[in-house]
Amino acid sequence: MKRRDFNQHLQRSALALALMPWWQAVAQPADRPRVWRTNPFALGVASGRPRADAVVLWTRLLIGDEDRAEAGADALRVQVEVFADAALKQRVHKAELVTDATRGHSVHVHVQHLQPSTDYWYRFKQSEALSTVGHTRTAPAINADVRLLRMALTSCQHYEQGQYVAHQDIAQQPLDFVLFMGDYIYESTNSQYALRKHNGGEPKTLAQYRERYAQYKSDPMLQAAHAAHAWVMMWDDHEVVNDYANDQDRSYTDPQKFLLRRAAAYQAYFEHQPVLIGPDAKSPHRASMRLYDQLTWGNLADVWTLDCRQYRSPQACRDPVRGGGRMVTQCDELSDPKRSMLGMEQERWVSERLRASKRTWKVLAQATLIAPTSIPAPVGRATYTDAWDGYPQARQRLLQTVVDAQLKNVVTLGGDVHMNVAANLRVVPNDLQSPIVASEFVTTSITSRGMGDNVLSVIKANNPDLLHARADERGYSLITVTPESLRCDFRTTAFPAGSEAGFKTQASFVVNKDQAGPQAV
Ligand code: FE
Ligand code: CA
Repeated sequence: MKRRDFNQHLQRSALALALMPWWQAVAQPADRPRVWRTNPFALGVASGRPRADAVVLWTRLLIGDEDRAEAGADALRVQVEVFADAALKQRVHKAELVTDATRGHSVHVHVQHLQPSTDYWYRFKQSEALSTVGHTRTAPAINADVRLLRMALTSCQHYEQGQYVAHQDIAQQPLDFVLFMGDYIYESTNSQYALRKHNGGEPKTLAQYRERYAQYKSDPMLQAAHAAHAWVMMWDDHEVVNDYANDQDRSYTDPQKFLLRRAAAYQAYFEHQPVLIGPDAKSPHRASMRLYDQLTWGNLADVWTLDCRQYRSPQACRDPVRGGGRMVTQCDELSDPKRSMLGMEQERWVSERLRASKRTWKVLAQATLIAPTSIPAPVGRATYTDAWDGYPQARQRLLQTVVDAQLKNVVTLGGDVHMNVAANLRVVPNDLQSPIVASEFVTTSITSRGMGDNVLSVIKANNPDLLHARADERGYSLITVTPESLRCDFRTTAFPAGSEAGFKTQASFVVNKDQAGPQAV
């Protein structure tokens, strides 16, 4: 197709591309076709943020050493095609975009005017190079009568600590989407548990974070899970650095300096994920990025994805030398009502949305563990300060919202702690007189090592709200939602996850409609 015809085709096409403003400022690249010596689509494809009429399609051109001299600095044209069938016979949309080195040659396409509850296939093209074909699926119409929602709850995929066999299993499941709740990359290394090695040291600059993502994204099993399903994305700490909180890191770096690192990490995150919105150009150092979101699944469920890192108060009673989370006893700061896990603005946003929700299931997906895990200490109890136990006033406000608004069918989903958890959530944790107001499922890690059994058995023995807690196996959780129930199947394999790992169901729990608290199946 000639260029003029192509533009006319674009104008006639029903496809509206809502492009980032920065796309429009890009200079026009040369028209000449390229011969690629290395595959520019070596990082795969992805789709995300499913809506009834829209989805975000992603790829990033990886320009290999042999192509860098010719293509590295250029703006490049990329075509995207969307099909209604797996055989790629019925093309429903086609568009062309331009990307360049300032965004790591990443490509984000917001495809709109799609049909609800519909499967689509897509691929990208640059000159003669073709990407693999991805599959995605739109959300149901906003109030459609929906009988089924299936998602894979995932988090924590330390590249060094195992193979991504969980993603291979996920790729084969019939799912509406994958819910990824954080620790997509790890900045840190623990050579004791390394089955394979990170390239380079701890990333701090944009170039280093890009390289880290490129290594993770080169994994064929991770690519398969992205190509198979839409992903709904949230981050946790390791996308920047372990245990960071808002503008503070563990080493008490000057916040203005730390925000430069956070900006680099957020930019690299955006460049590698199928998300709609990148770093806010108006924020200092472009170090802010709105990732929290709400996804509505017909009349069946509202799913909120909550950001537990960007806006939180620093961990309570930090060690003056090595900050971040730790076990504390007798820490008055814990009861300070001004401290927040979500930041006051996000807290208000989610409680308003919760109260307004008309859907049967209200699913709060967030990064970490809400249920208590504190243990007896010589004086009082020892509490780990990085999860919600370290933000007890914020936890109470969230659960009190559920009580005050008389909300039923509130289920929280999380990750971060590298163990499978099913728990009762009460306004006063572990107080059997305090009614169960919500149900919690936390997934184990894809690969990252879990805590030892000795510690965990002490935690379990002292926290009756924990119905199930196992840190020994790796995997993900299948969440199946129907009008009658929300079911969680913990899908696991042994640690470390090897290349031939078989998957089994470690345990299953169900939350029945109008009856808070998971029940063992
Ligand atoms: Fe983790
Ligand atoms: Ca984490």
